[in-house]
Amino acid sequence: MDTREVEAGGQSIGGGRFAVIAGPCTVESRESLLETADCVSEAGATFLRGGAFKPRSSPRSFQGLGHAALPLLAEARERTGLPVVTEALDVRDVEAVAEVADVVQVGARNMQNYSLLTELGRAGRPVLLKRGLSASLDELLMAAEYVTQEGNPDVVLCERGIRTFETAYRFTLDLLAVPVLKERSELPVVVDPSHAAGRRELVEPMSLAAAAAGADGVMVEVHPDPDNAVCDGPQTLACEEFAGYVGRLQGMMATA
Ligand code: PEP
Ligand code: MN
Repeated sequence: MDTREVEAGGQSIGGGRFAVIAGPCTVESRESLLETADCVSEAGATFLRGGAFKPRSSPRSFQGLGHAALPLLAEARERTGLPVVTEALDVRDVEAVAEVADVVQVGARNMQNYSLLTELGRAGRPVLLKRGLSASLDELLMAAEYVTQEGNPDVVLCERGIRTFETAYRFTLDLLAVPVLKERSELPVVVDPSHAAGRRELVEPMSLAAAAAGADGVMVEVHPDPDNAVCDGPQTLACEEFAGYVGRLQGMMATA
């Protein structure tokens, strides 16, 4: 099926140009967010990601800066021009998140939170919908319909790895999802190799594979000092290696 172009903040996903959505797992501080935003912007990323509200497996883990992170994301956008992708975790925060976000992310754990999806269908912002940890493609597509049926056609699907018996990496990246979702839906598809792999050395090969499979973009975690990142450091690329990564991705796209 022809892919719909989802436009957001002067950029787009699905319009032919491969999207690179990059930034920290979570917004940690103004300084580190702005440093990361500058680095990903200079390297050629097309969107800045960063969580204000974090869905953490343990309630004892850092839950994100919450509302305090939203003006920092707005400042990073102002400074770099990069549109912002950030997650709404709770239906009560949709309005505040949608005020700052150019694209509102729905995390894997919320893929079937139907009241959240319905609210986002009315929020006037594109939605990046991550596949649930154990969700089938049918379930992902039906979740997307909860948004589109409210009158918001701008949904981007995101494959981020699913749970299987394999324990050698964090999740199993299901790249077959890319061409199969594209057969069945007009929605653009991006791939998040960071959360699937759980290890930064796997991020580049899986990004190249995602591009080869026909994905419309990737979402990757980047931080100035990944070993001291507040969350997901082991799967996070360092700012200084990010430009090389983007260059090799663009090189592959140019020869494809
Ligand atoms: C994220 O992208 O910040 C995230 C928490 O990912 P997921 O919902 O896929 O686990
Ligand atoms: Mn993360």
